[in-house]
This record gives sequence, structure tokens and C-alpha cells, in this order.
Amino acid sequence: MNVYDGQRIATLLQSRGMTQTDSIADADIIILNTCAVRAKATDKVYSALGRIREQKKPDALMGIVGCVARESGADAFRRVPELNFVLGPQSYHKLPEILENPDMRLLNIDLGGLEKFDELPQSDKSPALAYIPIQEGCNHCCTYCIVPYTRGREISRPFNDVMHDVMHVANTGAVEICFLGQNVNGYKYTAPDGTQYRLSDLIRATAKLDNIQRIRFTSSYPTEMTDDLIDMFRTEPKLLPFLNMPIQSGSPDVLTKMNRPYTLDLYIDIVDKLRSARPDIQISSDFIVGFPGETDSDFEQTMDIAQRIRYINSFSFKYSPRPHTVAATMPNQIPEVIKSQRLYKLDELLNNLQREFNESCIGKTLSCMLEGPDKTGLRLVYRTPYMQPCIVDKPDNTTPPTLANIEITSASKAALRGKILI
Ligand code: SAH
Repeated sequence: MNVYDGQRIATLLQSRGMTQTDSIADADIIILNTCAVRAKATDKVYSALGRIREQKKPDALMGIVGCVARESGADAFRRVPELNFVLGPQSYHKLPEILENPDMRLLNIDLGGLEKFDELPQSDKSPALAYIPIQEGCNHCCTYCIVPYTRGREISRPFNDVMHDVMHVANTGAVEICFLGQNVNGYKYTAPDGTQYRLSDLIRATAKLDNIQRIRFTSSYPTEMTDDLIDMFRTEPKLLPFLNMPIQSGSPDVLTKMNRPYTLDLYIDIVDKLRSARPDIQISSDFIVGFPGETDSDFEQTMDIAQRIRYINSFSFKYSPRPHTVAATMPNQIPEVIKSQRLYKLDELLNNLQREFNESCIGKTLSCMLEGPDKTGLRLVYRTPYMQPCIVDKPDNTTPPTLANIEITSASKAALRGKILI
């Protein structure tokens, strides 16, 4: 979502004649697009601002947009007096106001719903991978999560508006569509004529477009994985066989305290249905360790479920108390050292599962999408249908294909190596 927001901000400023620079010392405006999900992310923003104010031109504008802006509000100006603007995730389309009035301080952390989508200019060239937001905000109110506060209540964009964006990117270079939402599979839109649209309708309509070869979506909530959506994995080959479906914890007690009211049986049942719809599907998860009150035995249940589902690549975090959340004030907060020990143990297991899956790909041919040059600039990085990075040698004297069949030749925990089949 933040990559998408960043692209829209870049297009907005480019439409006003500005260009991007990598040098802070050259910049006329410096924008930090921020995440507030864990305290560490917020802290990083403030330490970056400290560095940037030393390096920037004295009259360069500097500000923050996104969730830390919303979390901090006017307090951000007190912490960093040099800030010129503080714009929340649903009001960054107001940025031009600061260009017109550089002497004022601009603060807007309103939850304006879908207004920004109408006000932002469209780019006339899409990257091959196009992010399309379809809903914003979240109503689930997991007790650890700041997102309902920073991004607001859940709201789905009109079906026709989304398809308008999809067709625009399909006609200007997109090959892969990634639908976005904090609760993406909860997408629900009722048109004025009463027709109801779900994510499955968006996938079906998008799969009809010839230019689009790959479709995926993120982030999903387990119990929003309805049968119509599961069925898409059976019927739409363009829908990638990969799904991030965070379980967060394997302990029923912890899940209850997290306000994630699903049973492990229900979760496993959804995974089984997905696997019978699409036998090659793989699942990834997010995990939180050290949630208030988590016992050793709760944690062991998280280890068990990770092993049982065999997640192929997951994100794991130490619980971080956040403002405006219920869990931050719960009793029995877990000491940092225990959180670290549990995270270490879980990561070891998740890394092994990831390595095993990566190794199981050796010898297979996968259809992969070009991402760009690798760090050395000498090779190329492609993405497999499972989002694994796959490194290949640059083909001699030809432009590399956007989509390529790649034979996987070796694997590590972090990446695959392969060769493009011509
Ligand atoms: N559905 C959300 C998830 C975003 S946060 C969205 O797409 O916006 C990504 C992950 O961060 C969550 O799945 C959760 O595992 C983790 N997370 C959220 N709040 C957290 C907290 N307070 N402490 C630690 N991890 C957290």
C-alpha cells in the first residue's frame, strides 16, 4: 500500500513539473511516506528526519505523509519544528497546497475516505506490476493493530472505478495486477442499481483482459476467504497460486485476546479448501510473538501450526504496543528478552520451511515476471508465482522478456537461481 501511495505522490509532483532525485542536498521537497504498524517504524521516521534536516537545503520543504503523520498529528511539529507538512494516508493529495504556500504549516490527518482517488492524476505509463487499491481501512479491530485508527473504517471503492483503473494500467504497460486493501478479501460494493460486487468479480473481470497475465491480492483476513473467492483459484489460471493469509498465532486463547475470532479448525479448513481448489497453491502468514499474556505453551502452539500448514514464506514480529489500541493496556505484557527468544525460535522454523520449499523448486520450470537488475547490476531478478526472487544471467544482446519461463537450477533460503528458457 505504501509503495502504491509513493507512486501516486511521485506522479502528483511530476504533473507539476518536478523530477525525482536521490540526493537530499539537491531536493526542493522531501517527503517521508511512513508506516506506524510497529513502534520501531515510527522511531525510524523521527531519526531519519533528524538526519535529513542536517543535509537538506535550508529552504527545502520537508514533511511526513502516511500513518505516522496520522498517529502523531500536530505533535509532529513540536517534535521536529522544521517540518512543513504532516499529511495522513488519506489526505496526501493535498500536497500541492504546501507548494503554493510554502510559508504555512500544513496539517491534514482527516480520514477523507475515497476522495484522494478522484483527485490524484493518473500516470500515462504503468509499471509491469500495477498496484490497484480496492478498499481502504479495516473494521476487524484486532486489539494490537493501529491500522483502524490510522487508515480508518473499512471502505470499498466502486467496482466501475476499480475496473477503470485496471483497464488504464492494462493499456499502459501492466502485466500483473495486485489488488490492495488492509482487508482486501472483505471487498464489498453495492452499485446504485443494487448489484453486489466482491473481490471474485474483480478477479473474473480482470482475467478477461488479454494484457494481464498475473493477478494477486493482499492482505487477506482468514474468515473473509469466502467460497466464491476460493473458487477463483480453481477457475482462473491467471490468479497466482500464492496467498498471504495471516494467522498471527496458533493459540486459541491468544487469538481470542487479539480479537481474531476464528478457530484453528476453521483456518485449517480454509487452507484445505484452497488446496483442493488449486493443488499447487502455497500459503504464507504473518505472526506476532509475545502478545500480552502469551505463555510458553501458547507459543508452542504457534510453532505447531506453522509446521502443520508449512508456510513457504512468512513475516514474524515481536508484539509492539501501539497507541489507540486495546492490547497496549492489557496486563501481563511480555518482557523484551522473552519476545526475542520466541522470535528467534519461530524464525528458525520459518526459515527452514522456506528453504525446504525453495529447494523443492529445483528442476521445475516456473513462469516468472521481470522485476529489474539485481544489486550488482550484472544479473536480473525475476519473481516466481510464489513471489520468490529468482536470479538469472542477463541475456546477451536482447531485451529480457517481461514474462519468462525459467528453469530453477539452485536455491537458498532467500532466493532461487535459474536460467531463462528460450
Ligand atoms: N491487514 C493489515 C496488516 C498490516 S500490518 C494491512 O494490510 O494493513 C502487517 C502485519 O504486522 C500484521 O499482519 C501483523 O502480523 C503485524 N502487526 C500489526 N500490528 C502489530 C503490532 N502492534 N506489533 C507487532 N506486529 C504487528
